[in-house]
Amino acid sequence: VEKSRIMDGVRVNRALARLASEIVEDNQGVEDLYLIGIRRRGVPLAERIADKIADLEGVRPPVGILDITLYRDDLSTVGPNPVVNRTELPLTVEEKNIVLIDDVLYTGRTIRAALDQLIDFGRPRRVRLAVLIDRGKEHRELPIQADFVGKFVPTKKSEIIKVMLKEFDEEEGVAIVER
Ligand code: 5GP
Ligand code: MG
Repeated sequence: VEKSRIMDGVRVNRALARLASEIVEDNQGVEDLYLIGIRRRGVPLAERIADKIADLEGVRPPVGILDITLYRDDLSTVGPNPVVNRTELPLTVEEKNIVLIDDVLYTGRTIRAALDQLIDFGRPRRVRLAVLIDRGKEHRELPIQADFVGKFVPTKKSEIIKVMLKEFDEEEGVAIVER
């Protein structure tokens, strides 16, 4: 049951524009910047942020994909079926300024798994985290926080954030739903 619509497509777009600008400011440009989206919805978010960085800086940072489905499914259930790992990193992570991008930050376990997988590929110079929605620090089970947050949405355990993106869904926006 949808309780409230907290962002429409326009607001999502504005939040991504701000994240792009913050990421470039933090990195002092695009040098060695490497965006890595976490499947599934982190990937279109990473692509859109890369487009916005290209508009700002004239250079589009590379975008990679981490698939941590083996470790953890969306909506916090461990998937029973091993799935083919579709991680795609088009270039080395060595000495890169990585920004992991995901749709929702909740317990932090997905990001922990993503860091684990990432570090298997090499040694980045640094790793930052950008999320569209931060459900609140009280849900965190690990010392993982986001450096860049689209919108902070304090939630109860009984709620779920519904993230709708045009790449996967019929409409675009963010809503709070009751489980
Ligand atoms: P965590 O591992 O931090 O508990 O959960 C984050 C991951 O699970 C993200 O990849 C995100 O896609 C998914 N997730 C966790 N909670 C929610 C939620 O309320 N809504 C959505 N859409 N995804 C969530
Ligand atoms: Mg996810």
